Parts: sequence; structure tokens; C-alpha cells
Amino acid sequence: MSTSPEVRTLEIIIAHSAGTCFGVEDAIEMAERTKQPILGPIVHNRLVVEGLARQGIPVLERYSDLSGLTGQGVDEVVITAHGYPRELKEDLDRRGIVYHDATCPVLLKWVYGKIRKFESEGYKVILVGNPDHAEIIASRSYGRDIHVVYSDEHVAALPDDLGPKTVAFCQTTITRSKFEALVERIRATKYPGLKAVDTRCKPVKNQQEAVARLAQWVDAMIIVGGFNSSNTTNLARISSVHLPEATYHVDSPDLVQKEWLENVSHLGIGGGTSTPKDQIRAVQQRVAELFDGHVLYRREDRDGEIERDDFGADEEL
Ligand code: SF4
Repeated sequence: MSTSPEVRTLEIIIAHSAGTCFGVEDAIEMAERTKQPILGPIVHNRLVVEGLARQGIPVLERYSDLSGLTGQGVDEVVITAHGYPRELKEDLDRRGIVYHDATCPVLLKWVYGKIRKFESEGYKVILVGNPDHAEIIASRSYGRDIHVVYSDEHVAALPDDLGPKTVAFCQTTITRSKFEALVERIRATKYPGLKAVDTRCKPVKNQQEAVARLAQWVDAMIIVGGFNSSNTTNLARISSVHLPEATYHVDSPDLVQKEWLENVSHLGIGGGTSTPKDQIRAVQQRVAELFDGHVLYRREDRDGEIERDDFGADEEL
């Protein structure tokens, strides 16, 4: 009597909150509605930027690129969710160029608000984040004299004395462990009394916590999103702590490999705040096509939708 071969089952678990946040969704909606040139990549996601280009919406690399367009009668632009430096907004005003501001409310109301509040109380502000990232370039322009650190070398280069009151905020997409490590370094080597407030936004915190939870029990994890997206790259980094050999970062379904599914019965999928949900679905579908057997889907329990004014909590380190 012949026995039928065992049919394998793969369960795909989508991480809680995976996919675009309200800030990114608002920015894409504004760009599609106004159809005006966008100052910088609206999100760090190649497929989204290519989709906008197909709709005839130019994405400018640098502010100086605007000069080439203004001769062609462009008098309106869109500012991305990452925010835009104060002096360049003032320059747009001087040039009579109208800007549609898609700066995320988390930055406009929460982060810039904190910078203003603490400076008015006599604090010197330190931003912990990538000094070349659009969010940090913009955020530092809303303070008087902000220092930015992203490495031990940056910490070493801080002035020895910044006065009695110092406070650190962080890039909204950084990992908590990186923020904590740099805050500890600053306290140990420069300013022992440094106050530190975790300004990661709620969507980022939720995604980071969800991926860390999932990575502890699934057999493999696929993180979907742009390779130039810091929040997506950080999710891959967090997953790699638990799944160093089985974490894969893809920006399109074509990159998914059949070998990744060997000996895998539980597969986690996460996506950054700049990853549209249809890109996550496309990867899910590709996995199902490549897997020989039954595929089941599960979405991690949600504890409620995140509203656009739900920025995060004032959590001090
Ligand atoms: S990641 Fe956070 S700060 Fe950035 S656009 Fe989304 S909600 Fe806003």
C-alpha cells in the first residue's frame, strides 16, 4: 500500500501595524491630489516614487533642482513627510512659491514643539539621529543651536560644557537600543545630568516591538520596504538579532527566494512605515506561489488603529 507524501503547511504571520503610517499616507495623498513637484523623495520607497513619476509628478533630488523647474512656470511644490528646513521654507516664501506642507504632524506638533519648549526653558538640545537624513536636517533648523550625534565619534566631538541643562531627543525612526546607547555614552563622557526623551513615534515603536516579538518565535522573517528607508532597515536589524541567518529584507516580491522557505513552518512578514500595504500583500502572494503546500495567514492582534494625533508617549530614559 502506498502512502501519500505529507503536505507541508506554512503559516504567514503579518506583524502588527506593518505598512504605511498616517504621516506617509497623508503625504502620498497630497502629492497625488496636487500633482505638484515634490521636494525630495516623498518616502524612502522606490516603488512609490516610481508610481508617482508615472503619474507625471516629478520628485526633485535637491532644493537647487527647483531653480531648473521654476523657469518652466512651476510655482507650487509639495514638502515631504520628513519636514523641510525652516530657512528653505522662508526662501520659498520669498520666491513666491506656494508649498503644500505634508510634514508629518508628529514632527510639526510634537518634535518641533518639544525643541521650542525645552529651549525656552534654557535647555541645550541634542538630537540623536542620522545627520544626513531629511528629518534630522529639518528638525535641527527649528532650534537655535542643536547638536546632532549618531556615533561615538560624534559624541566625542560634542563641546565639553553645554551648561547645566541638556536634553536629548531622537529621530522618530531610530531603534530604542541605539538611542539608549548614545544617551549612556553622552552621560558617561560629557553631560551626566542629560535628560533624554524618547521621541520615536507610535507607529515606529509599534512596528519595532511587533517585529522583535515575532522574530523570537517564527522560523524566518521577511521585511518589506525600501533599502534606503531607515525605519525599514531598522526593522531588519531588530529581526536579525533573533534570526541572524533567516531575516530577509526585500523591496519587491521578485527578490523572494524559494530556498528561504525550506524548513520554515512559521514565516513573519513586517513592513516599514514607508511600505504600502499592497507591497506587503504582493510579497505574501509571492511566498504562497513559491511554497509547495498549504499556506495559512494570520495577522498579529491589533490593539486599535493609530490616529494621526497619536504621536507617542513622553517616555524618558
Ligand atoms: S514614521 Fe512617524 S514621524 Fe515619520 S511620517 Fe510616519 S508617523 Fe510621521
